[in-house]
Amino acid sequence: MTANPVLLSFGGNLGNVEAAFDSALQALEKNGFHSSAFSQIYRSPAMGCEPGAPEFRNRSVLGIWNGSPEELLNLIQRLEVQAGRPADHPHWVSRPLDIDILVMGDLVLCTERLTIPHPEIANRDFVVLPSAEIAPELTVPGLGKSFAALAAERKHLFPPENQNK
Ligand code: ATP
Ligand code: CA
Ligand code: CA
Repeated sequence: MTANPVLLSFGGNLGNVEAAFDSALQALEKNGFHSSAFSQIYRSPAMGCEPGAPEFRNRSVLGIWNGSPEELLNLIQRLEVQAGRPADHPHWVSRPLDIDILVMGDLVLCTERLTIPHPEIANRDFVVLPSAEIAPELTVPGLGKSFAALAAERKHLFPPENQNK
């Protein structure tokens, strides 16, 4: 079993999200995450957040991580807090930075702190489309589908004017 490559999803809808993405990527690199590709930034309406919440920006990032999944989660949670997200936050509220671990090679893990692959991948255009842009052949363990296949299934749901922004 190999836990590489690693695919991350960056998201956010408060403040200068693109600057937060850049800082987080730099900090990941400094702490041992070797990125090889990142998608364009996709925009989508805030769903399930508080009323009037600003739209979200999302991007996927592909790379190599040689530590454990828990060590990667510790690092991304530290970066979320540095970006201004309270460590103790409710689910589904606006945030300056959220980083989810989508896939780690063919690892399948379900613990109190981590579910890998991320269980919502197939339901989220803002995850599937940027991931298909940079890792079309990557297969989601458990689902047995590549991101290209997932994107083809969902493309009709996603307005073209919203892509590639
Ligand atoms: P969602 O996971 O549905 O996108 P969210 O990103 O808003 O929701 P958070 O509040 O950021 O949820 O995270 C809640 C908890 O999810 C984290 O404390 C972490 O322990 C756990 N978690 C489980 N699996 C993962 C994963 N694959 N990537 C990141 N966090 C995960
Ligand atoms: Ca998330
Ligand atoms: Ca998260």
